[in-house]
Amino acid sequence: MALVVQKFGGSSVADPAKLQIAASRACAEFESGNSVVVVVSAMGDRTDELIELARRLHAEPDPREMDMLMAVGEQMSIALMAIAIHARGFEAVSLTGAQAGIHTDNVSSKAKIKQIDTTRLRRELESGRIVIVAGFQGVDVEDNITTLGRGGSDTTAIALAAALKADRCDIFTDVDGIYTTDPRMVPEARRIDRIDYDEMLELASLGARVMQSRSVEIAKRFSVPFRVRPGGKDSEGTLVTDTEEMEQVDVRGVALEENEAKVTIRDVPDSPGAAARIFGAIAREHVNVDIIVQNVSAQGITDLSFTVRQDDLPAARRACADVIRDLGCGQLEVDESIAKISIVGVGMKNHTGVAEAMFSVLAENGVNIKMISTSEIRISVVIDASQGRTSLEAVHSVFGLGQGEEEDNVKEQ
Ligand code: ADP
Ligand code: ASP
Ligand code: MG
Repeated sequence: MALVVQKFGGSSVADPAKLQIAASRACAEFESGNSVVVVVSAMGDRTDELIELARRLHAEPDPREMDMLMAVGEQMSIALMAIAIHARGFEAVSLTGAQAGIHTDNVSSKAKIKQIDTTRLRRELESGRIVIVAGFQGVDVEDNITTLGRGGSDTTAIALAAALKADRCDIFTDVDGIYTTDPRMVPEARRIDRIDYDEMLELASLGARVMQSRSVEIAKRFSVPFRVRPGGKDSEGTLVTDTEEMEQVDVRGVALEENEAKVTIRDVPDSPGAAARIFGAIAREHVNVDIIVQNVSAQGITDLSFTVRQDDLPAARRACADVIRDLGCGQLEVDESIAKISIVGVGMKNHTGVAEAMFSVLAENGVNIKMISTSEIRISVVIDASQGRTSLEAVHSVFGLGQGEEEDNVKEQ
């Protein structure tokens, strides 16, 4: 008997018909003799609708109350899923994050799971029930409901698979698996059979919203291979696992991020400790900074630019205000019309010329690069937002990632 975790994303539970399909998958797994834990997201766009409701009442709603509100979406789904399973004659119980023992820190709207107490989950499984857990939510030490950041149901599923030492973890979504880039933006994109944790992690954190990046981090740390599969049809989808025996390619995929902003602080004193103070203040507001560029200094002052998520802008501004005053910096300027394009591949570290190919195709398309950042397995550029989509297509195509082009990009190991 195996223990299987199945996660159904918002589109896979968007209406009663979709819920039925998801319920039938859970029941089929149970009937074949396995223990089944099901993680569900809010139905369709429910989370967005809840956020919109709050924004109509307040421009910057209280973070604790937002978590309370957003958690409602998943709570609806778990009850409906349990009811759909009951209708098929199986036993099922729905559990909120707190009831499932998911303990988090107290950072509202981006809480991290600290520990999972599996006692209740195991008891329910042993009594022969299918257990339905609300994705995206947990509880902090003071019993406040917390949420894990957008897309957080992926993290719930992978963390539960790790805590329960599940034999299998399937993430059901609205595409056939992981593609070389978002197939909704580039129809030529190709489905990938297997992808390395590190590549998936980079793609996820660089804009491919198909998996929440935190979930991939956990999968890697606890060695939880998982499959991303279509909810609506039978397909094995994509296996996300470690690299062994995998073909190494220079570029496995391309990601586009359109929800970031570039922040520039003018006239920062070019002296030891200035950057530490600025980024220390930002980190204390729990804002993630991605690309950082410091210009060459002139007369002891310099400009400092970095990118953050657009929804983190109020917190970033708040964080910088005091430091800017104390250090005597110039103005803080924000450019929201940017896009970030990243190429990712573990084979990149062994091959040269990848950056040149990317920059050349951008140049041929008349695209000006505003910022560049690299790691061993990725290259990111920040460009003007208006050129994001066409540049994504051009970069995707130059690395031979389209359908029927498999051979071009594979390099011997
Ligand atoms: P769910 O509701 O199931 O969690 P999401 O909307 O969060 O689904 O994620 C699935 C979406 O991710 C797809 O519809 C697709 O548009 C997008 N996506 C972005 N990059 C990729 C990629 N490289 N491969 C597959 N899907 C991607
Ligand atoms: N419902 C949450 C969201 O829309 C969590 C998730 O779908 O994974 O972000
Ligand atoms: Mg998602």
